[in-house]
Amino acid sequence: MTELAYLASIDDGYVRTFRARVVALPPGGVVLDRTYFYPTGGGQPADRGTLAAEGRAAVEVVDVTKSGPAVIHRLKGGAAGRAELTVGDEVDGTIDWERRHRHMRLHTGQHFVSGRLFARAGRRTRKASFSGARATLELDGPLEASVLTSVAGDVHDVTAAPRPVTIRHLPRAEWDRHPLSARSGLVPLAPQVDPVRVIEIEGSDLCPCGGTHLRSTGEIGELAFEPPLPLGDGGTRVVFSLKADEPARPA
Ligand SMILES: [Zn+2]
Repeated sequence: MTELAYLASIDDGYVRTFRARVVALPPGGVVLDRTYFYPTGGGQPADRGTLAAEGRAAVEVVDVTKSGPAVIHRLKGGAAGRAELTVGDEVDGTIDWERRHRHMRLHTGQHFVSGRLFARAGRRTRKASFSGARATLELDGPLEASVLTSVAGDVHDVTAAPRPVTIRHLPRAEWDRHPLSARSGLVPLAPQVDPVRVIEIEGSDLCPCGGTHLRSTGEIGELAFEPPLPLGDGGTRVVFSLKADEPARPA
């Protein structure tokens, strides 16, 4: 069982270094008692970084996956990398922040964009994923290209005049009685999800999500949208990318 320490609060998504204990060494990987490494899921790629036991060489984490209640940190060099670690070791974990912050910008940008697409055109986002500096969304119906021009303007505005992003945890029964977001349903909530982790962009969007997000829309920066692509089933693919590597500093 690995505690997903990055889930608790927005600020926990900004933790770049942490200490944890090795609880298992399955083939090619390391299981810790707690981690701030994000494991692949919900369209967001895994973090990378390093793990280092005191007095030993740091080993590179090249992938992170969930396996039941455990998070497996996969190491460069497989068994050779694992040789630097022993069950019971305290290790220092370091997250590749440039990569993680890019995912946070894409992910928070996607929440905002999905909220605006619903508000402006009534389109729900049924799927979203991130890779490199690009986000790919699938909407549940057709979309005029002019809507994306307007949404790009909305992103510009919310970067220039930042709004806070917050997390709340609601009991599942309460969420089922009063889902706070008309557009949510990106991925249907699994029955065991309780409490529901809701990400709120003040005044513009609410959505249940287990990913990592910015604390302010000011860090999103300008987004470049590709023309909307009609899909065979009547839906639309929307792709956007971050215009600059680091336009906005963490607040
Ligand atoms: Zn999210």
